[in-house]
Amino acid sequence: MEKGRATGLTIHYKVYANEFEQRTRGLNDEHAFVDGCAVFMYLEKYRSLPLTVTVAPYQGWHVTTGLASVPGNRFTFKAKNLDELMDCPMEIGNQKDFEFDVEGKKHVLCIFGAGNYDSNKMITDIGKIVKLNKEFWGDLPYERYVFFLHLGLQGGGGTEHLNSTIMQTGPFGFKNPNSYRGFLGLVSHEYFHTWNVKQLRPKGIAPYDYTKENYVHELWVAEGTTSYYGGLMLLRGGFSPSQSAYDWLANTVQGERQRPGNRIQSVSESSFDAWIKYWKEHQQGFNSESDYYGKGSDVSLVLDLEIRQHSSNKYSLDDVMRTLYKRFPLGGRGYTVDDLRSVAEKLSGTDLGKFFENYVTGTVPVDWERYLGYAGLTLQAKDSDRKISLGIMTADRENRTRVMSVVAGSPAYEAGVDIGDEVVALNGLRVRTSDLPDRLADYKPGDKVKLTVFRRDRLREFEMTLRLQDVPSYKVTKVEQPTPLQKSIFESWLKTTWE
Ligand SMILES: [Zn+2]
Repeated sequence: MEKGRATGLTIHYKVYANEFEQRTRGLNDEHAFVDGCAVFMYLEKYRSLPLTVTVAPYQGWHVTTGLASVPGNRFTFKAKNLDELMDCPMEIGNQKDFEFDVEGKKHVLCIFGAGNYDSNKMITDIGKIVKLNKEFWGDLPYERYVFFLHLGLQGGGGTEHLNSTIMQTGPFGFKNPNSYRGFLGLVSHEYFHTWNVKQLRPKGIAPYDYTKENYVHELWVAEGTTSYYGGLMLLRGGFSPSQSAYDWLANTVQGERQRPGNRIQSVSESSFDAWIKYWKEHQQGFNSESDYYGKGSDVSLVLDLEIRQHSSNKYSLDDVMRTLYKRFPLGGRGYTVDDLRSVAEKLSGTDLGKFFENYVTGTVPVDWERYLGYAGLTLQAKDSDRKISLGIMTADRENRTRVMSVVAGSPAYEAGVDIGDEVVALNGLRVRTSDLPDRLADYKPGDKVKLTVFRRDRLREFEMTLRLQDVPSYKVTKVEQPTPLQKSIFESWLKTTWE
């Protein structure tokens, strides 16, 4: 090639593509999935130029993607720029595409794999979730949206994209109401991301740097607030019986209180450390780390109630999210926690300095009684449900019972039981994961027991004094005589009537 004269360049390269479970790239004799940023090469200086990509599918296969195809060629697609290409994954194979319209926009439910699903029911329910979000945000920021679904026995979860999401779930859970509700929860979470993250982005990931880790302090908003609304939308949409709002809150409180890591690491730090801690799934994570998904959702929930309370229920976190969405359009500088705080302060008319210090950058336990009280709800510990607990989680593999986690501060933790220990016996009699609860139920608080384990092939014995589990389960109920403000917060928050 003569210098300066070439008008094009052809590059061939191979990509390892066996990562369906990471939802990045995969190719086998059944289908292919391509997430652009895990497959395509690029040059930074040409990042903003429009481009086209042509797929050569295997015989009889077709392509489903959020990208628009070039007229006259159904396998050539165009993107405004590299970022659009990177954020519009493709499914290539014999997937089933179910098309439907909601609010004047085209939607596709694209399913790979066999399962016991009812596509009409799914379309109806997904359509409701689309409508709820349109009501919430005010618009649908796309022309066409694709819900990719991989049905398989392995993997689970989803990844959000610009005008699509790729979700994975088990193939035969669609008839069971609980697992179907779990699937809708996944849809609700991923779809909420269409605004919160794909449009409204934290400063650290706008624009995205594909070459390295992008550190941000706002994942507790990006993921936590999305988790909060993912669940809340299903309640507001009437996907669950009314009782489950109380169960949801009761489980939320118990979950937040029983994770020792919540007292050690803030959600802001958990967000920042996502690259080096959260996704490493360290065995001690539960004890030493917070969780920007779960705790981020908790903080979002109480922030919502705080804003409602201080503004006499004129404003809520819904308004904060909408305001940020308008103020920080895609392509701009991205928002920070300070931006979120200043919008929340403006709407609530109160200084939220202490709130952010306690719950966002601090590790203060959430004052659930106070916040739920704003909505006329009370919290009672179900002491009668408290069980004897050692504070360990075990799993049986190849006929061996292993300690998978030890809760900080629990009797087992204090006695010295460790992750990885192979549990052999409780008080001299063999115990396995399945019969541990029954065995413990025979004792009462204050009883001493001996737990025998193999640790690195050496037999060890640990003596511990039993007690009831530290954090009880809870019951959430309405107060007898609500104030008008409590009633109004409850009703507009959960979109239901007090009765
Ligand atoms: Zn998410």
